[in-house]
Amino acid sequence: MHTHDENPLTLMQEHGIKLTANRILILKTLLQAGRPLSMTEIETALESVDKSIISRTLSNFREHHLLHTVSAEDGVRYEVCHCADEEQDDDRHVHFHCEVCGRTLCLEDIPIPPVLLPPGYCAENVEYMVHGVCPACAGKR
Ligand SMILES: [Zn+2]
Ligand SMILES: [Zn+2]
Repeated sequence: MHTHDENPLTLMQEHGIKLTANRILILKTLLQAGRPLSMTEIETALESVDKSIISRTLSNFREHHLLHTVSAEDGVRYEVCHCADEEQDDDRHVHFHCEVCGRTLCLEDIPIPPVLLPPGYCAENVEYMVHGVCPACAGKR
C-alpha cells in the first residue's frame, strides 16, 4: 500500500508548487484517503473550501505532475503520484472500482502482466481498472 507519512509541504516543494493553505488542505485530504478521490469526494471532505478553488488546485497539481488521474465511468479520480520521476507516471498499479459503494481502491501488490503492443503503437497512458464488489460491500447486495 501507499505510505501516507509524506509531508504535503515537502511534496509540493519538490513539485515546484507554491504553498497556500487551501492547497495544503487539499493535498492532505488526498494523502489521508490513500485511494483515488473524485471531485465530489474531495468537495464533501472539504466543505469549507470553495469548489472552484478545489478544481483550480487539482489542475495546478496535475500540471506539476503531483497527481495522476484514474478514469471511472462516473468521473475521473485523483491520486497523489508517488513516483520519483516527476515527468513520468511510473507508479502504476491495478485499481478496483466497487460498483456498490462507488469507491476506487488501489491494489498495489498485484503484479501486472506486461502488455506488448504491436509495432507502430505507442502507449502514453495505461490504466488497469477492475470493476466489481469490494470486500466491505460483499454480501450487501
Ligand atoms: Zn464497496
Ligand atoms: Zn492507486
